[in-house]
Amino acid sequence: MVTIDGPAASGKSSVSRDLAQRLGWQWLSTGAFYRGIGYVAGEKSADLSNESGLVDLINEKDWKVVMTPERTQFFYKAKDVTDHISLEHVGDIASKISHYPEVRKHLLKAQRDMAHRGPGLVAEGRDCGTVVFPQAKVKIYLTAHSSSRAQRRSEEQGVSLQKTIETQKLRDEQDSSRKAAPLQVPEGAHVIDTSELNQQQVVDKVEELVRHTLGI
Ligand code: C5P
Repeated sequence: MVTIDGPAASGKSSVSRDLAQRLGWQWLSTGAFYRGIGYVAGEKSADLSNESGLVDLINEKDWKVVMTPERTQFFYKAKDVTDHISLEHVGDIASKISHYPEVRKHLLKAQRDMAHRGPGLVAEGRDCGTVVFPQAKVKIYLTAHSSSRAQRRSEEQGVSLQKTIETQKLRDEQDSSRKAAPLQVPEGAHVIDTSELNQQQVVDKVEELVRHTLGI
């Protein structure tokens, strides 16, 4: 088990996906749970300030998360809505609902269940090393200057740099200041600043660290 945490657009998703491929392990993006439930809430026009209403949505269980080597998929009413949950505005809803302790608690078991489905798991998110999988043998925390992160995200999403800087700042503040499982560096984590590195350099570095630590 390897966990990779970090702020928005720090490169967690692509690095963890590539690492999992190199190791022949499963890859889980835990953001898909929050994005997916955010999407469902939007579909049902749910009140985002009603925590117990959001928990009811989770418990209806007409959704599921599926891991593939390319992406973590989200199905709602048996329909693949992964393209929809990847949109920036769904990320914003995810960030808003993810501060509710009961929402987090109800998604925790589903996230942990994913660990039993393969030879090993690379899990990425905000609290993978601190809360979801504290037993992970290797914990990584990726970080990067906010300007490099915004540049990456604006290119990926085709959104203006200025707008991306604003939404990213808000998202970082929400994720770091919440009481329940805030974004933080897990104890014992290796912190890697990706600002000056390309994706392959980061994956090389992380792979070496993992293989060295686990002796694989
Ligand atoms: O990583 P991603 O952009 O998909 O995450 C979307 C949002 O979901 C984050 O901004 C964060 O609020 C929430 N999230 C979380 N805990 C995780 C993963 C994501 O709170 N482990």
